[in-house]
Amino acid sequence: MQNPPDLRPDLARARVSETRHEGQPTIGMVSLGCPKALVDSERILTRLRAEGYGISPDYAGADAVIVNTCGFLDSAKAESLDAIGEALAENGRVIVTGCLGAEPDYITGAHPKVLAVTGPHQYEQVLDAVHTAVPPAPDPFIDLLPASGVSLTPRHYSYLKISEGCNHKCRFCIIPDMRGRLASRPAHAILREAEKLVDNGVKELLVISQDTSAYGVDIRHAEDRGHRAHITDLARDLGSLGAWVRLHYIYPYPHVRELIPLMADGLVLPYLDVPFQHAHPDTLKRMARPAHAEKTLDRIAEWRGICPDITLRSTFIVGYPGETEAEFQTLLDWLDEAQLDRVGCFQYENVEGARSNALPDHVAPELKQERWDRFMEKAQAISEAKLAAKVGRVMEAIVDDIDADGIATCRTKSDAPEIDGNLFIDDGTEGLAVGDIVTVEVDEAGEYDLWGRRV
Ligand code: SF4
Repeated sequence: MQNPPDLRPDLARARVSETRHEGQPTIGMVSLGCPKALVDSERILTRLRAEGYGISPDYAGADAVIVNTCGFLDSAKAESLDAIGEALAENGRVIVTGCLGAEPDYITGAHPKVLAVTGPHQYEQVLDAVHTAVPPAPDPFIDLLPASGVSLTPRHYSYLKISEGCNHKCRFCIIPDMRGRLASRPAHAILREAEKLVDNGVKELLVISQDTSAYGVDIRHAEDRGHRAHITDLARDLGSLGAWVRLHYIYPYPHVRELIPLMADGLVLPYLDVPFQHAHPDTLKRMARPAHAEKTLDRIAEWRGICPDITLRSTFIVGYPGETEAEFQTLLDWLDEAQLDRVGCFQYENVEGARSNALPDHVAPELKQERWDRFMEKAQAISEAKLAAKVGRVMEAIVDDIDADGIATCRTKSDAPEIDGNLFIDDGTEGLAVGDIVTVEVDEAGEYDLWGRRV
């Protein structure tokens, strides 16, 4: 026997009360399945809201509806198909995602009229499908997130988007074509939103944009209502709110140096996410990367000189068109020297519309894989050694989850949610709640994660 839908915790409609703007594209969402799927739904809605979409609580007010499905049991599959059918009947423009999305033929067999089917955790693909069905209408001067984010579950961290678009022209990237040139939000609007989030219980603000270090360049760092649109000022202002503030997507420009004392002083987290992508100047030039002529190792040494505890995260692309063995070796040597704490690596792939597709000398798939393996082996060894050096240290960690066995999944200041590692506390977690910040002594380290005990 089942509860009626309005009492089902696993069947949630987006509940968002907000004023919609005229002409604002609007999306509805039906979320089925487990709490993990609910979190996925929340993440999709938060991203859409950050892009300027309105969220409709009913079918009639939506330009399209996303159905986040469950495919765990036959009954759940049938329920998912029913929900898709209802959304098609009520609205007609339906995008399907979630676990059942892993079986697209099953869905399109029953409902050939759905606009797109994507699988579980494929946020980007869902967003792409939404962009195609209902193109965004970016307006940087309206709030990009409602007061407490789009929340289907209580959350203790929140993304804070400070600008949209990008002025660069990296050859492998189509974001500037899709989202347009850099459009920064006024600093006072970002701060007002951040204050509301913190008032609503958010303990960690994750500052995002396409190019965070360029924040305010398009509006000439204008000062409005006492707040200047410059990343250093914004970071300082955000740091005064009492939450953890984590900066993502910073390019290694000289002015980034001014952020590091704020980290040393504890105003913002000593964490910099710098998408270096490569280290060889010729590869970077072929990529047309911003700041490609910067002496990045010198910059890193300078940052560490000011804030020795800084955690550096980055992502890289191996097998970019024309990448020679010598260029790749330069990258490996650079990594040896840079000793980054957290590293992600992608094998280059053509993206429809990207200018890099037309470059000569594409790298063979086997070679890309081989380079990726070599890169990851080194990155992993560095990560392991860095984490081993933390054993015995006492640090703060934020609690993300506590399971039925009382094991707490936490993150230290060095770990961003969803992309970095975790710190686990196996016992003594009585009385702890999600979102608490605890003091722990690290007693064990793995390749990517730590274990600790409360002190
Ligand atoms: S990859 Fe380059 S072009 Fe694309 S968003 Fe980032 S900085 Fe801009």
